[in-house]
Amino acid sequence: MSYPTSTPRTTDPILAAVAEALAGPVVPPAVIACIAPAASERQVRDLVEAVRARGHGASVYDVGNGVITIDGMDDEALDDLVRGNRAIAHVVRAETRYRLARREVAPTGTVVRIGGVAFGGRAFPVIAGPCAVEGRSSVMDAARAAAAAGASVLRGGAFKPRTSPYDFQGLGLHGAELLAEAGAALGMPVVTEVMSSGAVEDLYPLTDAFQVGARNMHNFDLLKALGDVDKPVILKRGFAATVDEWLLAAEYLLAGGNGRVILCERGIRTFEPRTRFTLDLAAVALAKRETHLPVIVDPSHATGDPGLVGPMALAAMAAGADGVMVEVHPDPAEALSDGSQALLPQALAELVARLTDVAPAFGRSVTPGPKPRNGRASG
Ligand code: PEP
Ligand code: MN
Repeated sequence: MSYPTSTPRTTDPILAAVAEALAGPVVPPAVIACIAPAASERQVRDLVEAVRARGHGASVYDVGNGVITIDGMDDEALDDLVRGNRAIAHVVRAETRYRLARREVAPTGTVVRIGGVAFGGRAFPVIAGPCAVEGRSSVMDAARAAAAAGASVLRGGAFKPRTSPYDFQGLGLHGAELLAEAGAALGMPVVTEVMSSGAVEDLYPLTDAFQVGARNMHNFDLLKALGDVDKPVILKRGFAATVDEWLLAAEYLLAGGNGRVILCERGIRTFEPRTRFTLDLAAVALAKRETHLPVIVDPSHATGDPGLVGPMALAAMAAGADGVMVEVHPDPAEALSDGSQALLPQALAELVARLTDVAPAFGRSVTPGPKPRNGRASG
């Protein structure tokens, strides 16, 4: 099959003539050739070279099982060279603006690991911890509470994006060190927010995963910097971002070479003032349909209300989410940020127990927390 040439859409003869003169052949949309699990490096390299020898761009990405993107190739050439090639499992035409994030690229879904904790597939991990790392003993207390409740990943902000410049801005790198210390003490991988591309290198040795906050979803320099690292990224949806914009932000990471992306719905801004944001669970189901990447939900920021965190976490599981991220604080009234939405340790434990109970009904299994070390995780 050859592709149609673009035809002028005007009845004005002069404009039509100009359009005709300018119209070239329409370039076929990019193709994503998904690499077969059994393909050897040699086979992939040979195919890339053969495609390039025919004058088409070809690049390899670490997405799903690995893909080769091919520019401007029509179906005839594809049939000749790519479809049926032993190195290729299947071929997808990029018909959406996001290419590598498309569900068809890895139809059974991609599993992304933070430390040893898998996101995607049957697993349903709970990420928990304080909004901000406030000091050594308080982050240890929150980490113990998270571990004892059955959370498997520890969160905590060291660099805090605060609406007011007068609010607590976080402890910076020292905070990330304290979080790493707490995670190591309890046997939990950690995730912390990175706010600027300049901080990626410093944070790299201290964290198992980078969080991109809602306010930074459109920070393209940051996304490009994180495309270049080999650690997972939790990409929060901007609170005024469409699902397509969110997926295109993920595409920046994938196109930059980092296939380890977990999307996180954390509420969008609507006219409703009674909740902090509005949890968009339809976007979770939609994102799950549109992309192979794992999608988790943050019911803490979405609601801003500890009484609503549990119901929304359960609803997230029912909507098909691949995990939740929840804020917990041993003494919410004294918290330096987001205390009013933090769960008490006991409430977190009850929530994880409830999620564990209902998970089988949704084909899920809540990832167990770390094994107690010297009895400390249960303290
Ligand atoms: C956070 O996780 O503490 C945070 C600031 O989240 P968000 O970027 O979703 O507001
Ligand atoms: Mn917070």
